[in-house]
Amino acid sequence: MPAINRLDTAFSGVCQPTEPKIILSVIVPFFNEQEVLPEFHRRLSLVLDRIPEPCEIIYVDDGSTDSSREIVQNFVPSVHKIRCLALSRNFGKEAAMSAGLEHYEGEAVVVIDADLQDPPEAIPQMVEKWQEGYDVVNMKRSERRGETWFKKFSAACFYKTLNLMTKLDIPENVGDFRLLSSNVVECINGLPERNRYMKGIFSWPGFKQTTVLFQRDERFCGNSKWNYFKLVGFAMDGITSFSIQPLRLATLIGGLIALSAFVYGAFIVMKTMMFGETVSGYPSMMIVQLALGGIQLLSIGLLGEYIGRIFIEAKRRPLYCIASVYEQPAKRVSFAQYNFKQHKRYHHDYK
Ligand code: UDP
Ligand code: MG
Repeated sequence: MPAINRLDTAFSGVCQPTEPKIILSVIVPFFNEQEVLPEFHRRLSLVLDRIPEPCEIIYVDDGSTDSSREIVQNFVPSVHKIRCLALSRNFGKEAAMSAGLEHYEGEAVVVIDADLQDPPEAIPQMVEKWQEGYDVVNMKRSERRGETWFKKFSAACFYKTLNLMTKLDIPENVGDFRLLSSNVVECINGLPERNRYMKGIFSWPGFKQTTVLFQRDERFCGNSKWNYFKLVGFAMDGITSFSIQPLRLATLIGGLIALSAFVYGAFIVMKTMMFGETVSGYPSMMIVQLALGGIQLLSIGLLGEYIGRIFIEAKRRPLYCIASVYEQPAKRVSFAQYNFKQHKRYHHDYK
């Protein structure tokens, strides 16, 4: 290599300003959210402007078919680094979140929905808790606005069942909106399973946790991507990926039925030997047969659920495929400018 080139390289190595270390990564999975993304980005940027450390926003496009991706790629450059990971198709929110978590750069991560149901304004409080030494800041909904009584009731039942069946302490009414320190994210990224029930996965590593209450708003616009069929599947995923209690329950019920059948059988034999028997008992026969048949089918279905999951895990397919990555580096702001901006803002805040 000519000397001048070597010098050039060495020079550029010394003099090129290094990228500031990102402290907070905000992960935003989205799927067809073109109506809300501009407002979401406006509100999130305002909030991040108030955090004095460098931040990044990782948008994960979960195979949107509308113009959501173009909208994100056209956001005006700001002091925060913006990235958009575009998945090759819709893999589901759980996979989209996993993609974001595997590409973070910060020392802490906040996962937030794009539909403004989780208020970005709560992020500084989450960061404060993290700076106090907590590794996980769970955001608990104090109120579920805009949801039917049936959804609230079924959600309450689900959390009760889940916590009863799993050995984990999965906090009730805490969604995916939470802050995780990089220690926790590294543990989560090390979990090899394909079945990503994130609420359970977030709770699995443990670490020092705290809970903050917040008011979950209604969707800014558009519709929820969930329906009851999906939610039932989701609930099954949650229970079966973190617990084998349903199998134990099936064994227990089977055992109880077998025992009572034995006792009842002995009673019938004794009765027949002592008093004889005329042919009767069609209704009781039918009831016993139907009940046993039902329980057997249910148990086979349950076994099937677990076998299905083993099948999915055994294939070891990747969780998602990335089609493209868009990156917008942080716009450089000189220290003086930045302080001036901060000063102006605080002045405005406390005026
Ligand atoms: N989402 C996603 N992929 C999907 C479905 C949803 O990335 O397949 C995103 C969606 O754009 C939103 C978040 O996940 O940012 C929460 O979705 P939604 O509001 O539909 O769920 P809900 O709040 O009703 O539970
Ligand atoms: Mg929502």
